[in-house]
Amino acid sequence: MQPISSSDNEPLSILGGYCPIPLPHQEKIVLGHGSGGKLTHDLIHSIFQTRLGNSVLNSGNDGAVLPSIGKDDEIIVSVDSHVVTPLFFPGGDIGKLAISGTVNDIAVMGAIPKYISAGFIIEEGFQTETLGQIIDSMAATAKEANILVVAGDTKVVEKGKCDGLYITTSGIGVRQNNLLIGGQFVKPGDDIILSGSIGDHGMAVLQARGELGFESKITSDVAPLNGMIQMALNAGKNDQGNAIHAMRDPTRGGVATTLSEIAQQSKTGIVINEKSIPVSEIVQSICEMLGFDPLYVANEGKCLFFVSPQKTETVLEAIRNHDYGKDAQVIGKVVADNPGKVLLKTILGSTHLLEMLSGEMLPRIC
Ligand code: MG
Repeated sequence: MQPISSSDNEPLSILGGYCPIPLPHQEKIVLGHGSGGKLTHDLIHSIFQTRLGNSVLNSGNDGAVLPSIGKDDEIIVSVDSHVVTPLFFPGGDIGKLAISGTVNDIAVMGAIPKYISAGFIIEEGFQTETLGQIIDSMAATAKEANILVVAGDTKVVEKGKCDGLYITTSGIGVRQNNLLIGGQFVKPGDDIILSGSIGDHGMAVLQARGELGFESKITSDVAPLNGMIQMALNAGKNDQGNAIHAMRDPTRGGVATTLSEIAQQSKTGIVINEKSIPVSEIVQSICEMLGFDPLYVANEGKCLFFVSPQKTETVLEAIRNHDYGKDAQVIGKVVADNPGKVLLKTILGSTHLLEMLSGEMLPRIC
């Protein structure tokens, strides 16, 4: 462990805003940064509080105190761990992913994401400058999503015991209690809207790993979707609460696996049309080349909506009015036949069953 000398060094400001050069005497993370002692405090102040700080996070107690919610509201909680490799990929990084993934899991429940807590497992020897870049990215994404990071934890493990950095985020959101939104509320007759093209995230991570064997312009779709989802919810309001019965972000396992989960949860059948599913040309050709089906490739900035047909056009228009949903399409319908099953009508006119993804197609994609 190397102590930080304070004699020739100005104390780091906790609340004074951005700290451009983190830990001047400590370019790499050492085990002592996870000790809970002075090095941990210095790391938290210089890297985390300057970037993510707010009055709740900076209060310095063992738990964050959050304001109470209205009596008509429900609390929605989710948690997700992020182990993506590499840490940076076209269109994003593990920090943007860690905030977006948790924001999206809260937002698809029909809730407004409010707070996030984050746990960091850092490998000894990790560059503090790189850590600063990742936390900058988390801060920018949190700002876009209008949420506060209110609690955090850092642990350091010995070199070789983790692959650079893992981040676990837990989110808290608030939902009006009259909203019945979830996979169990999907009904026969519902239209299925997909907010945009599929497969971009998975292929962007493969690109970053150098596994494509060539350069492409592919970028991940990773993004916080709560703004777009709120616009859809506003458009979907009706006498029963909302015409949107369920939403889900098709991450690991892709659109096919997510639809399969919903079909099983709601005991309905799902039929989707291949020709309505947006796939970029580049993703389509890479998938063909490598033998992937884009329906099973992970997305990190897409959402599936299950909407009562009276409101489909209104909700679709609202989604398309948002940048993240401009390519949204109705891709299929929920039916009473074949409960628990997902059928794909292909461009050639045949129909085949889409199973859940079995096994791991692309490990450590998120
Ligand atoms: Mg999800």
